[in-house]
Amino acid sequence: MTELHANLTSLAYLVAAVLFIMALRGLSSPETSRTGNICGMLGMLIAVVTTVFSPEVQSYGWIIAALILGAVIGITIAKRIAMTAMPQLVAAFHSLVGMAAVLVAGAAFTNPGAFGLVGPAGDIFVASRIEMALGAVIGAITFSGSIIAFTKLQGLVSGAPVSFGGQHYLNALFGLVILGLLVYFCIDQQPWIFWSMTALAFIIGVLIIIPIGGADMPVVVSMLNSYSGWAAAGIGFTLKNDALIVTGALVGSSGAILSYIMCKGMNRSFFSVILGGFGGDTSAGPAGAADDRPVKQGSAEDAAFIMKNAGSVIIIPGYGMAVAQAQHALREMCDELKQAGVTVKYAIHPVAGRMPGHMNVLLAEANVPYDEVFELEDINSEFQTTDVAFVIGANDVTNPSAKSDPASPIYGMPILDVEKAKTVLFVKRGMSPGYAGVQNELFYRDNTMMLFGDAKKMVETILRNLD
Ligand code: NDP
Repeated sequence: MTELHANLTSLAYLVAAVLFIMALRGLSSPETSRTGNICGMLGMLIAVVTTVFSPEVQSYGWIIAALILGAVIGITIAKRIAMTAMPQLVAAFHSLVGMAAVLVAGAAFTNPGAFGLVGPAGDIFVASRIEMALGAVIGAITFSGSIIAFTKLQGLVSGAPVSFGGQHYLNALFGLVILGLLVYFCIDQQPWIFWSMTALAFIIGVLIIIPIGGADMPVVVSMLNSYSGWAAAGIGFTLKNDALIVTGALVGSSGAILSYIMCKGMNRSFFSVILGGFGGDTSAGPAGAADDRPVKQGSAEDAAFIMKNAGSVIIIPGYGMAVAQAQHALREMCDELKQAGVTVKYAIHPVAGRMPGHMNVLLAEANVPYDEVFELEDINSEFQTTDVAFVIGANDVTNPSAKSDPASPIYGMPILDVEKAKTVLFVKRGMSPGYAGVQNELFYRDNTMMLFGDAKKMVETILRNLD
């Protein structure tokens, strides 16, 4: 590579890295998220074009075929995927990053000369051995962990935690053996060490994720996001590609920060998540089936009457609103209420829906004003002075068993205190529990009225009855 070309490449990668940072900055708020997305796309375009035109590329056949295939698959998935299936899609994509890291590390190990990783004595540089070992191990953990997360989120296997006696000791043992092999690999570059280490990493990826279940999955998704970033950074070192190192580090650290935020939202310990199996003893959770106690059932007319005559209404959206795509009808209903002089606010729980920020995205799509949308900690104290809590397709995030039942799988998770409102209206189709499989005591309370039906249809009918 000529000096000029090398400088231009570095400059282009620097611009791409700055754009990625701007993308992360933009994505931190719904108002700037579109600009953030554009910055991210632009940065990726610059990074891909710069890499493809680098002088090290000797033939374009495979690259062009892969680019076309990847683009076709990416566009098809993006067009078809339902918003509610996003977490499993993200998990599936993380698995690809993990596998890419393993394959690059494996290729570099089997043919180190082609990657310029061989010293004068014919051995692979020790630094390169560390990089490829880390890339392979983190990549393998990311791959198998993401596959397990995908199968759980997609419902292919039960989302319940799988735990057995001595699980943490076994994980610790695997971790120590992998670490020992990694050190040994730096001393002696025997193939059996490299491949055993990688194989054990695939196994520990499974072991880390299987004990995590139910409501704790959001943390897993963001944690694997972080792992995939570190795996990509590992490949970056092996390939001596600055853009990949920077991008991987950005994804790794932003994923770790997101995991931390999610942990705070769920009241879980960050380090026990990173080490796996943090769900604790969740096997003793209460049964998900509804009991025989009567519930107070209301109609759309009742709901319209109650809300029209209220002074204040807080809307609590959840996964069911996303399934029903009720956000537009909901916004129209709220506009109508506001015109009638009712104060309307939206309360967002950090893990409502099925991905971080899920509810914010849907409300932004429906043009709900940002200043009406509040995070849990900013609005929770207002329920006690609110006339109506309108819970639309949310369940776990309102469940008081998180506060009162130590055996509950969601015990310790902060919840929206909807029960403190004068009246609680629950829009859902039946009595089924939420994602964590825990029955919600609130359904049976005196101040609760159940509005059974699809969220969108129910809101549309309420809207008609508000006139
Ligand atoms: P929940 O999953 O607790 O409850 C959703 C409720 O929506 C269900 O009880 C269901 O009841 C109802 N529902 C489903 N479809 C419809 C429909 N068409 N119309 C009306 N209601 C409907 O959702 P929450 O948002 O309260 O909580 C999120 C849960 O998901 C938490 O446990 C969280 O930990 C977990 N999770 C979150 C992720 C994230 O990143 N945010 C990722 C993975 C998991 P019914 O069937 O009776 O209608």
